[in-house]
Formats: sequence, C-alpha cells, structure tokens
Amino acid sequence: MSARIAEDGLVKAISEGRRVGSSLRNQPSGEEQWRLAYHEISPEASEYRYSVSAKQFGEHLVALSSASRPIRDRAIPQITFDDGHRSIFDYAFPLLQKSALKATFFVVTAFVDSNDQCVSWDQLRELVSAGHQVQSHGWSHRLLTRCSRRELEIELIKSKREIEDRLGVEITALSAPGGRFDKSVIATCRKAGYSELYHSNPWIPDRTIHDVRLKGRVMVTNGMDGSALCSHTQASRIRKLYFRARYAGKSKLRTLLGDEVYHKLWCSLANWKPGSGIELRVDHPKKATEQPYKT
Ligand SMILES: [Zn+2]
Repeated sequence: MSARIAEDGLVKAISEGRRVGSSLRNQPSGEEQWRLAYHEISPEASEYRYSVSAKQFGEHLVALSSASRPIRDRAIPQITFDDGHRSIFDYAFPLLQKSALKATFFVVTAFVDSNDQCVSWDQLRELVSAGHQVQSHGWSHRLLTRCSRRELEIELIKSKREIEDRLGVEITALSAPGGRFDKSVIATCRKAGYSELYHSNPWIPDRTIHDVRLKGRVMVTNGMDGSALCSHTQASRIRKLYFRARYAGKSKLRTLLGDEVYHKLWCSLANWKPGSGIELRVDHPKKATEQPYKT
C-alpha cells in the first residue's frame, strides 16, 4: 500500500470516527491530553445546547482546576473556544483570570469587530496579553470540505495573515468549522503554515499527516457538569470504544443526509436559532474552475 493511499484511508477513518488499521495503530499516539471545545458563554442558562452559562463554566473551571494534578498520568485538558463570540470576553475571560488556567480562542477572522455579538481586535489583544492563545477558525466559518481550492486558501491563508498582522502573534493552529476536514484541507494547512488541525472527534488518538498534527476535542454542551467533563477525560477503554462507535454512526448519518439536511437537523437538536451562536455556513459547493489564491 502506498503512503498516499494509507494516508487517504486514515483521514477518512478519522473523519468518520472509525478505528484505524493495525498497520497504522502502532504509530505513536502522542500525548494523552484531552481537549474541550466551548462556543459561547451566556449570562443565564440558554436553550442553545452549545451555550454554557457563566455559572456552569465557573463550575467547570473549579472541577478542572482540582483535576490539575495528573489524572491517571494524563495532563489537564486543554480549554478551547470556537467562533469568537463576544461572550467569551465578557464571561469566560474574567473566570479564566480567576483560575490558573489558560485557553486557546479560535476566531472566525472576518467576524472579528463586525458586530456586537463578536469579539473585537482590542479584546483579542487583551486575551493575548493575559497569556491566552488566539488561533484561526477560518475566514468566514464555511465548511472547509465544501470549499474550492481558491476558497480554501482564502479561509486558511487570509485568516492566518490577518490575525498575525493584527495581534503580532504566530498562527499555527486551525480549528475546522463543523469539525469537517479532508486530505485537501490538511494539505492546504501545511501549505499555509499550520502545524495543528483541531477537529471534533475526541475518540481517535492524535495523528500527524503531512506534518500537520490532527487533534480531537470534546464538544462541551450545557448538559455537562464538572463531573461529566472529568468522566469524559477519564473514560475507560470500553467507554471510548462506545463513543467511537457512536461518533462513527453520526458521521454515517451526516454522509447519508448531506451537509444541508444534516445542518438543519443539527440546528434543531442543538436548539440553535438565529442570534444564538455564530452559524456555520454550508451553502458553498465546490467550484472546480477557480484559480488559486495569490499569496
Ligand atoms: Zn465554529
């Protein structure tokens, strides 16, 4: 089997949540660090499933801080935020300041400073000054797997340059909108200078493909209390297999339904309504004829 075919199969397996083959399983699995992905932090409890209240987030930080001693030889989970919702600055940042924990904020670059729901560049500078990281969540929150080559380069290269110019930090990590990626996304990550690609399947060990480290995260919902977070981070092998199978089933359903229908179903299940969170864009099918983005 050629290396390219093996890598293509591995990308497909990871994106579908399946176990990888034995020939690849003996590769080093990397550090056993768990990662959590938050979206928006609301002042009060919200019906939107991915909006965690400030009170709940504070409880999570207490649980995670008390778990800062290694749990079963694992490091403390990495805290990340996707989208760049204004609430991360208003509610998450003050609570993080009270704890000893640092976070990584993945922002949709074109949305920064665009309206009062989104963070501003000044606020991001403040986060960086406080020791947190800001990284890229793409340019416009499109599903990267539906982008043409030119669109993909805009999403990855333009967003990276904009953040670097505005904040004076190096951008090395990308969080894929909707957790969706494929071999073209990984190849463009490498070309753009990203060394890490974060996705939403936490049940597959970290892997490196084309010099890009693929890192899964647990998507935090408002149904999880502190102990639920810790139970995720301490899942047994059997529990991991169960979740991996469940994720694979979800991925199959997504393939069967297609991106548009699946997104409508997701909005319904997550209680997403216009104005709650930053919406994923799934309305851009690939166009094969466009030229590469000029760098
Ligand atoms: Zn997002």
